[in-house]
Amino acid sequence: MNIDRGMFEALDRADPLAPLRDQFLLPHGVIYLDGNSLGALPRATPARVARVVEQEWGGDLITSWNRHGWIQTPQRIGDKIARLIGADPGEVVVAESTSINLFKVLVVALKMRPGRRVIVSEAENFPTDLYIAEGVADLLEQGHTLRLVEAGQLVRALDDEVAVLMLTHVNFRTGAIHDMAGLTAAAHAAGALTIWDLSHSAGAVPVDLNGAEADFAIGCGYKYLNGGPGAPAFVYAALRQHGHQGGAAQPLYGWLGHASPFEFAPGYRPAAGIRQYIVSSPSILAMAALEEGVDLMLKADPAVLRAKSLALTDAFIQLVESRCAGLGLVLATPRDPARRGSQVSFAHENSYAVMQALIERGVVGDFRAPDLIRFGFTPLYVRHVDVWDAVEILREVLATGAWKRPEFQTRAEVT
Ligand SMILES: *Cc1c(COP(=O)(O)O)cnc(C)c1O
Repeated sequence: MNIDRGMFEALDRADPLAPLRDQFLLPHGVIYLDGNSLGALPRATPARVARVVEQEWGGDLITSWNRHGWIQTPQRIGDKIARLIGADPGEVVVAESTSINLFKVLVVALKMRPGRRVIVSEAENFPTDLYIAEGVADLLEQGHTLRLVEAGQLVRALDDEVAVLMLTHVNFRTGAIHDMAGLTAAAHAAGALTIWDLSHSAGAVPVDLNGAEADFAIGCGYKYLNGGPGAPAFVYAALRQHGHQGGAAQPLYGWLGHASPFEFAPGYRPAAGIRQYIVSSPSILAMAALEEGVDLMLKADPAVLRAKSLALTDAFIQLVESRCAGLGLVLATPRDPARRGSQVSFAHENSYAVMQALIERGVVGDFRAPDLIRFGFTPLYVRHVDVWDAVEILREVLATGAWKRPEFQTRAEVT
């Protein structure tokens, strides 16, 4: 069968998510395949942030904490994110950053498993997650160690020394998905607790934390949730049988996690429930932007999102492998759709320069060391024709050697 661009245009005309793309402000002439790193700008966000600045902050000043519900934003947005990740109201709160939220839940989980000293993760996990675990082990000085294994060896690594299985659900480099329910069950069978990092999952792939009986989770607001650069992050602690919200206090005793912050009492008493995971005053401007992103995400049917995401990534893999055959690309993402997140990565010997040449041509993905070009397919706003066009431009860059220009060889600070 002859595949052409018209077939992709037809898919876009039939796409039930097409109206949601119009809810984003996307620059003309750009094919944005990096929403897995920084989500695009929702059309409603600039006016919302301006209103919060001018009317709420400027006009109503400090009364806005009550009058405009500022104080409730961490729980209100947390309850909305809960709907995207299979959690119940009262199990998720928005606060601080992903790294800091990991610090909180990791310490809680280790306190809940005294006597066990091992944190299992995979060597391919996102570095900040591993660094935070290293830092927690150093701080506690109780002999905790990180046991890093290959993805296929995780179950075997779980024994009666393991306190916590700490994993990122979708791998940031390859896009491979872990079996959350299966690994959680294996961890529980070994007596360990689980922490899932959902940074590349929330808003991208179906997540069912309570269905999997997960214990703790954390995740990012600025990737698929489109909350804006440096958006606040979220944290989940299961209310279920483990009673994780009362089991051990999270270690950053901040006043907004206190049972009664406005008592201004000298001693710390953790709030009952998920509110104890808040440390500091929420960044209200950032919260306003995040809420617009989350509200937009909630308009999409998760099953439709997943189906489109897989259609996009399947088509991209097939087109690259047929149209760029012999041009040095090796697929690094699982071919099996059930094991694939919402991104596709290829290895190439000159991946950094290839990506710079793509970006110059308006195809924005990113480079991930050591040798990957990575493309995120955010089903809310990426079109089927974008897949076709991106592959055509990739083929041109590789076939002509356009990436060889000297300016594409020097690495910028952020890749
Ligand atoms: C993006 C990402 C983070 C981000 O951490 P910050 O604290 O927001 O900088 C953490 N973990 C994973 C797996 C990520 O993908």
